[in-house]
Amino acid sequence: MSVVGIDFGNLQSLVAVARNRGIDIITNEVSNRTTPSMVSFGVKQRYLGESAKSQEIFNFKNTVSSLKRLVGRSFQGKDIQDVESRFITAPLCDVNGEVGVKVQYQGSEHTFSATQLTAMYLSKLRETAANELKLPVSDVVISVPGWYTDSQRRNLLSAAQIAGLNCLRLMTDTAASALAYGITKTDLPEDSVRHVAFVDMGHSSYSVAIVGFQKGQLFIKSTSYDRNLGGRNFDQVLVEHFAKVFQEKHKIDIMGNGKASLRLRLGCEKLKKVLSANPQAMLNVENIMEDMDVSSVMDRADFEALIEPLLERMNKPLEDALTGSGLDVKDIDFVEVVGGCTRIPAVKQKVAQFFQRDLSFTLNQDEAVARGCALQCAILSPAFRVREFQVRDTNTYPIKFTWEPQAENPSECQLVAFPRNNVVPSTKMLTFYRRGPFDVEAYYEKPEELPAGMQPWIGRFTVKGVTPEAGDELATVKVRARLNIHGVLSVDSAYTVEEVIEEVPDTEAAAAQEESTGEKAPVPTKKIKKLVRKQDLHVVSGSAGLDDKYVSQLCQSEGEMASADKLVVDTEHMKNALEEYVYETRSRIEGAYKEFIDPQVRESYMKQLGDTEDWLYDEGDNVTKSVYAERLAELRKVGEPVSERFREAESIPQAAAQLKDTV
Ligand code: ATP
Ligand code: MG
Repeated sequence: MSVVGIDFGNLQSLVAVARNRGIDIITNEVSNRTTPSMVSFGVKQRYLGESAKSQEIFNFKNTVSSLKRLVGRSFQGKDIQDVESRFITAPLCDVNGEVGVKVQYQGSEHTFSATQLTAMYLSKLRETAANELKLPVSDVVISVPGWYTDSQRRNLLSAAQIAGLNCLRLMTDTAASALAYGITKTDLPEDSVRHVAFVDMGHSSYSVAIVGFQKGQLFIKSTSYDRNLGGRNFDQVLVEHFAKVFQEKHKIDIMGNGKASLRLRLGCEKLKKVLSANPQAMLNVENIMEDMDVSSVMDRADFEALIEPLLERMNKPLEDALTGSGLDVKDIDFVEVVGGCTRIPAVKQKVAQFFQRDLSFTLNQDEAVARGCALQCAILSPAFRVREFQVRDTNTYPIKFTWEPQAENPSECQLVAFPRNNVVPSTKMLTFYRRGPFDVEAYYEKPEELPAGMQPWIGRFTVKGVTPEAGDELATVKVRARLNIHGVLSVDSAYTVEEVIEEVPDTEAAAAQEESTGEKAPVPTKKIKKLVRKQDLHVVSGSAGLDDKYVSQLCQSEGEMASADKLVVDTEHMKNALEEYVYETRSRIEGAYKEFIDPQVRESYMKQLGDTEDWLYDEGDNVTKSVYAERLAELRKVGEPVSERFREAESIPQAAAQLKDTV
């Protein structure tokens, strides 16, 4: 059984595997350690990961990126409308209440929800891992940003399920980096706490966390985010700048042309990366539009001046995380940075300035999250033995339960069960006094803290089977709420309790008596009240996640699309096999096989081979697998006996020689 961790990134993802000798990053079909987080749709098939990236420019309307920003969100949501739509080139739409895309696939229009798109991509990662490991891959741990809400987590879990993965934990990026850090440190203190700040800036998001480490455990003390600050924002600033430059210089409207602005964006991303290592860099974009090549140059200082407003935004999360931890800058022992954007010197400088210290680079900034996820998978998997390391993550958004006020206690109708920074996973028991069935609803307490446009409603839980106690008294009902290992809220059980009076030995009274009289006396008894579980109740849950029936439909359609893709690949293989057979056999018939084929047959066979070649370039360019297979079988019918005769003739002298050697 394999043990795999996935860093599901906005731009690119990584897959890590735990093996006995350590954690390895798995390379994909083109030997890259990262795989573009993208899916694309074509006339015949889907393109996933690397192959989607190669479609990005010429098939941009049917190519979808930013999957992790879409999953579990609604089309109408403010963030989707105002932010994501600027970065996604495929047309967005509503698909059964979730944002999705409208694309041309297999010659007609199709819509796919973000969960489906994510499932397609995750199944590609599963396949990459399985090919490399030569093992089926099922158990995984997948990274999520700490700011993901319940519905984002639920839909990502559904996407994993559709992709055939068994997700053992959705782990926050921060917790994953912290685990990758902690497990390698042999010098963590036992009696005190080491405080490490983790700063991650990726393609779309920025996070800061203060984490406490002790021997064998870590706990996230505080986190803070800017959900919309990352490399793509730096790219955008550059795109807008150069669009203006080229507008003035060449009178072209790049921003009004989808393909041109995409080409410019890719050029700007490259320029940004070069500026991390060099004081100056060139921007070259070939054939940006109207057959025109454009170029320009930029100094690092000018880049830094352009992105200054973005750099400024780095401060608040740093301050909030520190304040949230209750610590002072001088209490932070180390500062670790991860994520591609922390290669930008000005970004590093901002972090170092805030903490007033040099940064540490113990972690591989691209791979830490994937490695942490693989380690967590190893810890959770029964198939693997690994040093125990406890990860206590925290809750980002406070969660409250609400209910209909009761006549007996009209003012009480809500309770914050999981406050901010509550440990995850954790369980809370809620107590209700009722005469009949009742509903409890869960909401995020502070909707303004959620990603813009997300609904605060989390779920409704109906507790059934409650009946009044004797004499129409209220029944005492305990409801067990859980923020589970994925950070998803559930109410997994409810039961009634009753008070019983129990007689127990009163050892205290006996001791007091013995002390006053100086004699041993029989132990008296006392009566105590105790709550005991009486009857289990049925709970019906409803959440914003996808229902089981819909998920199984999506599983089926994913299976069908995967088979269609496989058929396209198999057809291509069969076509190549036919083409190869034609070329090889023809050259042999003219050469080595010449004497092993009847001259008349030879002539007609050569014609048959030539016709097949012509056919392949013409009407046979695009036919079904079975048609290629039939053609190949026909050619082999004549060709195989010839090659058989040739092989036999070849082996006779060899056999004779061998015989001579042994005599
Ligand atoms: P997120 O964490 O937001 O989901 P991600 O995990 O896909 O995104 P990373 O792989 O950490 O993101 O980082 C990608 C970003 O880092 C891109 O914007 C990329 O341009 C940028 N980047 C990578 N290398 C460099 C570099 N040398 N200099 C500047 N930026 C870089
Ligand atoms: Mg990342």
